Amino acid sequence: MTNPWEQLLEVQTLDSIIQKLDHRDAQLPERGRLSELEGRLSRLRADVVAAEAEKHVLVKEQRRIEDEIALVEDKIAHEESQLYSGGSSDAGLLQALQDEIAGLKRRISTFEDEELELMEQVEPIDARLAALAEDQAGLDREAIETTTTLAEAEASIGAERDQALAAREQATAGIDPEALTRYEQTRDRLGGTAVARLVAGACGACHIKLSAVEHDRIQHLPDEEEVRCEDCGRFLVRV
Ligand SMILES: [Zn+2]
Repeated sequence: MTNPWEQLLEVQTLDSIIQKLDHRDAQLPERGRLSELEGRLSRLRADVVAAEAEKHVLVKEQRRIEDEIALVEDKIAHEESQLYSGGSSDAGLLQALQDEIAGLKRRISTFEDEELELMEQVEPIDARLAALAEDQAGLDREAIETTTTLAEAEASIGAERDQALAAREQATAGIDPEALTRYEQTRDRLGGTAVARLVAGACGACHIKLSAVEHDRIQHLPDEEEVRCEDCGRFLVRV
C-alpha cells in the first residue's frame, strides 16, 4: 500500500481553500448590513404600529363626537319644527324652546371645538406616519439592493467552492478511506492542519525540530510507513 499522506497534503491545500471560501462567505459585509437593515425595519414597523394605535384612539374619539353632534342636530331639528310649526302660541313655551335650541347649538359648538382639537392632534401623527413610510421605503430599497449584491457575491464564492470541491474529489481518489477519516479527524482537532512536510528535519506545521535519533529513524523507514510529528502529532510527509 502506498503512503497516502503526500496525496492528503494536496487534499489539505484544497480543504484550506474551501475553508477560506466558507469564511469569506460568512463574513460578507452584506450579511451584517442586511441584519442591521432588518433590525431598523423592525423598529420602524413597531413605531408605525404605535403611531397608528395613537391615531386610532383619536379618530375613534372624533367619531364619537361626530355622532354626538348628529344627535344634537336631530334634536335641534325637532325643536325647531315644533317652534315653527305654529302649533303653539304660548309665548313662555316658545321662549323655552328657543332657549333650548340656543343651548343645543352651544353644545354643538363645544363639540366642534373638541373635534378640531382632536384633528390638530392627529396632524403631527399623520406627518410622522408619512415620514416613517418614506423611511421604510428607503430601507426596503436598500434591503433589496443588498440582497442582490449578497446573492451575487454568494454565487461567485459558490462557483469557486464548487471548483475546489471537484478538485478535492479528484485529489481524494484512491486514498484509503480509513486514512482519509484519520486525516479529517486530525484536521478538526488541530485547527485545519493534519499533515505537514518534514522540512530540514523540522515539522512544517509546528516547526519543532525532530531529535537526531527520531530524524535518523524516520529516514530509514520504508516509504509506506506512516510518520507523525513527536510534538504536535501531525502526519509528516518526507521529502
Ligand atoms: Zn509538529
